[in-house]
Amino acid sequence: MEVLWENEFIKSPISIKKKCKSKNSGRETQMVTKSIWQPTLYKAGIVRVNDILDNEGKPLDFKNFCIKFNIQCNIITYYRVIKAIPKSWLHEIEVFINNQLQPTANNSHCLSISVNDVDTSILKTSTKVTYNCFVKMKYVEPTALSKWSSITDQSDWKNIFKLPYSCCREPYIQALQYRILHRFLPCNKWLCDISIKSVNTCDLCQGIDTIEHFIYSCNSVRNYWNAIETWWNSVSNNPVVLTEKHVIFGLYYDLPYFENVNYILLLGKKYIYNCKLNGKEINFNTFLLILKKNLEIERIICTKTKSVEMFTKKWSKVTDNLSNLFD
Ligand SMILES: [Zn+2]
Repeated sequence: MEVLWENEFIKSPISIKKKCKSKNSGRETQMVTKSIWQPTLYKAGIVRVNDILDNEGKPLDFKNFCIKFNIQCNIITYYRVIKAIPKSWLHEIEVFINNQLQPTANNSHCLSISVNDVDTSILKTSTKVTYNCFVKMKYVEPTALSKWSSITDQSDWKNIFKLPYSCCREPYIQALQYRILHRFLPCNKWLCDISIKSVNTCDLCQGIDTIEHFIYSCNSVRNYWNAIETWWNSVSNNPVVLTEKHVIFGLYYDLPYFENVNYILLLGKKYIYNCKLNGKEINFNTFLLILKKNLEIERIICTKTKSVEMFTKKWSKVTDNLSNLFD
């Protein structure tokens, strides 16, 4: 049936075959009839059988035929096209479409969707499950993720994308991480690729200014991350090693200091981005001051929302250290 549905209707000057019954044997055979090929009809969009059928699988009437294809043809041409479809085909198409439109207990298998790799009748699934299945069917992996996968061993994208929203409330920081994950960051290589800059090298060294270089590999940036790592390990009882992978994607596995380190990483990347955008030097102490200010804002918000205890439990060591450093 599907093959019939996909068969090209007017593909070449001689392409319409009519099925007819042999007088002698009564068996159904195929016979090539005289061609009805007309370039004007083909150009108007009459290419396949279903082009000239309505939603119920019946041939369009003459008026709708002319309106649909915006053509002026006489009734004889119209009948030649319509009558070229074998009646047995029309019957099969009509039965097929009716089965699709009117699911019953007997044919409900026709309207099934795959839920967790199990075919389930659409009559038994909720709207939400059906919607998610359709979204899944349409999903195409973003090209940025394919690129990241080709240069790193990352695969847990669901947690990586959720991370900025679980440990940070500032939209401008979340937005930057979203751009990094989609490899949409104005590093010189990217600007050169889209012909905005003439060179793709870093402004601070001669390395190619890729996203990885922009965020982590450049010497001045690397020193900055090393300083943050040393500082965190002296403040916290939970030492970390900040590799390129951690800095770019975050520490997305669940650990007690999960939110703290990830927030510092996100804010650290935002600071690098701002410095490079404004041509300023990346300075570790300036970053700590920004962190101090942001944590103070967070503390005020938590006080208003009556969750200051949670804030203190989470950030007290860091805020105490920052107070000692700058007060
Ligand atoms: Zn550099």
